[in-house]
Amino acid sequence: MLYTKILHRGSYKSRVLQIEIDKKRLVTPTYFPSISSVATRLPLEPLVQSIVRSGYPRLLVSAYDLAGLSRENYNRISRMLGKFSKENNFLLIDSGSFESYWFRDRRWNFKKYRAIIDKIKSDFFTSFDNIPDSHSDYLDILRLTHQNAKDSSKLMKDNHCITICHGQSPEQLQKLVKKLSLNNSELCQVIAIPERSCGKTLHDKIKTVQKIRNILDNDKEENVLHILGCGNPLSMALFAMAGADIFDSIDWSRWVVDLRSLGFTDFANLSITDCMCRVCRMKNMDPILRAILHNLLFYQDFVLELQQSIILKDELNFLKRYVDQKTVSKIVNFF
Ligand SMILES: [Zn+2]
Repeated sequence: MLYTKILHRGSYKSRVLQIEIDKKRLVTPTYFPSISSVATRLPLEPLVQSIVRSGYPRLLVSAYDLAGLSRENYNRISRMLGKFSKENNFLLIDSGSFESYWFRDRRWNFKKYRAIIDKIKSDFFTSFDNIPDSHSDYLDILRLTHQNAKDSSKLMKDNHCITICHGQSPEQLQKLVKKLSLNNSELCQVIAIPERSCGKTLHDKIKTVQKIRNILDNDKEENVLHILGCGNPLSMALFAMAGADIFDSIDWSRWVVDLRSLGFTDFANLSITDCMCRVCRMKNMDPILRAILHNLLFYQDFVLELQQSIILKDELNFLKRYVDQKTVSKIVNFF
């Protein structure tokens, strides 16, 4: 059974939430490094291995990518994932619609998605979703979201399914979540929205996250909000202040986080950032592995520090560690 409870409330809409799944506990705000064949720099297997070896406790893998593996690779990787989930880590399987959309693969369907969700024991999985294009009709998006969420939630017992909501505009996204919360609140326990659907500016995105948090709160304050495709640390902190709980992205496997500015830079530039983290102090390591482990350590420390700042209601001072006072003053006006 999936059970959520608010442990602490911070400033603005931020909170520290505990999610219990089958005796495992996940504390938010938290980050899932995700692996996707769209725009990744490395194949699936070494990325899974690097997560497992690093001891990082969370991982998101796409059902589409798992379905596309050869039998031999699938057997090896699914064993690795099964062991990962068994060892008190959190495995999230994504619907694969993101990959099928970008690869324009119209053959990806609910049946293929279901085959992976049924076979691989995960802690969470996202509902099957249809990414709308600019011509999609709102009523069709609404109908498909309801139908897919209902069908997906039946796949595993105890509803560990995260309902994905899409919209062609932030307003449409809010309308859809509202409708879902009024008509099918059981599907709103964990809602995921893509960051790119929340608006075109940071201000608009924060406003959308705040409004969706309010809609979910009107149903139950313990409802969880996941922002898909969000790994920019500053955005994560601001969306957490707007009421978001979970984040995932592929950034950890594409760029190096510069700890001084929270900006992203090329893998090859890690050595000139003068990073003194535990990973960067280690000798004789492959540079790509070092960059990945440096990022994973950063994300783990960052979410723990973000949680701590929420507990102390000290989020703005937390931000001041990375951005100047002028920027923080601008940010305050967003809330
Ligand atoms: Zn480092």
